[in-house]
Amino acid sequence: MQVPFDDYVWSAGVTTDLVNTMPGVWRGIDQLPDRDALRAFLDEHGLGGVPAVDVAGVHAVRDRLRPLIESADADERVAGATALTGAIGHVTLDGDEWVAVLPEDGGVAEVLGVVGGLGLLAVQRHLGPERFRPCSSDTCSGVFVDTSRPGRRRYCMPGHCGNRVNVANHRARRRGAAT
Ligand SMILES: [Zn+2]
Repeated sequence: MQVPFDDYVWSAGVTTDLVNTMPGVWRGIDQLPDRDALRAFLDEHGLGGVPAVDVAGVHAVRDRLRPLIESADADERVAGATALTGAIGHVTLDGDEWVAVLPEDGGVAEVLGVVGGLGLLAVQRHLGPERFRPCSSDTCSGVFVDTSRPGRRRYCMPGHCGNRVNVANHRARRRGAAT
């Protein structure tokens, strides 16, 4: 099993989406409750070859990743992310891309741990610690890794949280105009 090694826009994006499936972001309803949901998540994120078996293991990896995004301590983030990359067997060129190769017995939790660890390390190194942020929506407890070029992303799920805020602002303005 292998995953891209140095495509941190991809790996940090997978990581953001993964931590925002946690029940705390969705009023207690887990967005990765079972193998079917995990299968769909993997397919959506270019990880179609990874077996969607170990749902509990993925939940555990998710629980490790979120505090690393939330942490204000860069050393803590680096140490935690490095630990998650421990499942890498070796790194090699596949065509013109670097890939991390995991042992064949590595499961989905190891794969997502490696992807998350690599993403956090690369963003910390190349873009800096201010790229790890909470969602700006008052009604959302999500977090995200901002890999946008300008670095001014505000929402963990831009199409979702951004819209919720816009709708709320719009309603507030209408209420204001009516009184
Ligand atoms: Zn959000």
